[in-house]
Amino acid sequence: MKVGVLALQGDFVEHIQILRSLGVEAVEVRKPEHLRDLDALVIPGGESTTFAKLAAAYGLMEPIRDMCTSGKPVWGTCAGLIFLAKDAGRPQPLLGVLDVNVKRNAFGRQVDSFEVDLDVPELAQVEKNGNKPRPFHGIFIRAPLISSVGKGVHVLAKLEDGTIVAARQGNLLATSFHPELTEDRRFHEYFLKMGDGSRRS
Ligand code: GLN
Repeated sequence: MKVGVLALQGDFVEHIQILRSLGVEAVEVRKPEHLRDLDALVIPGGESTTFAKLAAAYGLMEPIRDMCTSGKPVWGTCAGLIFLAKDAGRPQPLLGVLDVNVKRNAFGRQVDSFEVDLDVPELAQVEKNGNKPRPFHGIFIRAPLISSVGKGVHVLAKLEDGTIVAARQGNLLATSFHPELTEDRRFHEYFLKMGDGSRRS
């Protein structure tokens, strides 16, 4: 399996390291031709407006959109989630493939970054013993929240107050937080499993 990580800006190195530790070929994506033979794509955290500017400059907007609609797994973390979304509340170029509304910097500035344990029942899919999964440690850095989801979107995790912070729409996965900044590889394992033909909407 060959997985690309969008490497225009942001924390792509951490995703690549985790993916390689899971035994998959992980490569940096900077040009449209890098997408050609990929089985899956990760869009990391960073700055969503910068992604859009650079992606447009490198001719990547349409090829990434095509990858999203092709049925291959695509995962956006934090700024990557914003980039996938249909609406970010104010005008900015987005891929617009994930039927959610997001609110950027919803929890405040960099100093308001926080960490919290999340219940993610869906991670049972990667538990070896089939038990209820233990909580996943979510790291939120100037994170967006998902303010609403469309009909085909499955909510994967919420904060205690009900704020949606992870969701899946078929082959598209989105998290407000940064699994690549933890030692816990279950979200990456879950993402790789999405390519096994296990579709969900
Ligand atoms: N605040 C960034 C944005 O709005 C996202 C931050 C992140 O990816 N850690 O694009």
